Amino acid sequence: MGDYLRPVSLEEALQALARPWTVLAGGTDFYPARVGRAIDENVLDISAIAALRGIAEGPAGWRLGATTTWSELLETPLPPLFDGLKQAAREVGGRQIQNAGTLAGNLCNASPAADGVPPLLALDAEIELAGRAGRRRLALSAFITGNRRTVLAPGELLIAIHLPRPAHAARSAFLKLGARRYLVISIAMAAATIELDGRRVAAARVAVGACSAVAQRLPGLEAALAGAPVGRLAERVDAAHLAPLAPIDDVRGSAAYRNDAVLTLLRRLLGSFEA
Ligand SMILES: Cc1cc2nc3c(=O)[nH]c(=O)nc-3n(C[C@H](O)[C@H](O)[C@H](O)COP(=O)(O)OP(=O)(O)OC[C@H]3O[C@@H](n4cnc5c(N)ncnc54)[C@H](O)[C@@H]3O)c2cc1C
Repeated sequence: MGDYLRPVSLEEALQALARPWTVLAGGTDFYPARVGRAIDENVLDISAIAALRGIAEGPAGWRLGATTTWSELLETPLPPLFDGLKQAAREVGGRQIQNAGTLAGNLCNASPAADGVPPLLALDAEIELAGRAGRRRLALSAFITGNRRTVLAPGELLIAIHLPRPAHAARSAFLKLGARRYLVISIAMAAATIELDGRRVAAARVAVGACSAVAQRLPGLEAALAGAPVGRLAERVDAAHLAPLAPIDDVRGSAAYRNDAVLTLLRRLLGSFEA
């Protein structure tokens, strides 16, 4: 058995990280990865650090503290910009998982099927990291570098997710395809944020997950949506827009099925903005 530490301040946590610790937030990825073996590593439980909790709004946008759970996100009144992230939250496991699991844990675990990644990419999320040497901020797209790989350096913590305020009125949406309706690992999922100037698209951000090692934005589709009237978004989707994806064959579906399914998901997702 290693050491267990549950600091109440960020400073205490960062001091502790001078030596190796495994970070524990909600534990919903941590514990399933250790079933059947003793936990012999040092565990740094960050769930009592007040500075990492809560959702705050400022002039530039929103700050989601690292230990914000899926349930806390769902219970917080937020503008339609957050609808897609909330739709994803409702589909992360069941209520127990949503009560314990954190958005930051989902990002740090960096599964290709992490449901939080596409909606946060579509929200242009930035990640704030802290270590004993200081803090740094980077785009979410630069934070996750591969299947279960991030740029987190030893001794660093993800402390917040920042979401910029869009220039125009914006809405977002999320759709997930699994083998059944609930408690399911995604076969594919898609998220979009649409900024509107009147009835036309001023800017679009679209991301797809579970169809590549890291969820990807689709710049070709985003460009095709720019300027489109809001009632005509689904018809802009084209198979060529899927070029950034590299789906694999696995137990949940073949690459060909995923490619086909993503086209349908994207058309339904963009169709949902037409109402
Ligand atoms: C039954 C079940 C169903 C699930 N369903 C889904 C689903 O539908 N969709 C989905 O995407 N996921 C699902 N998950 C996975 C999991 O619930 C989520 O990924 C959750 O958001 C992880 O958050 P956590 O706080 O529990 O992370 P933890 O398990 O505490 O940590 C996960 C990893 O991130 C690291 N970490 C956590 N926080 C930080 C931080 N602030 N800084 C640095 N490192 C950190 C930890 O060291 C660990 O490596 C499911 C899990 C279970 C058990």
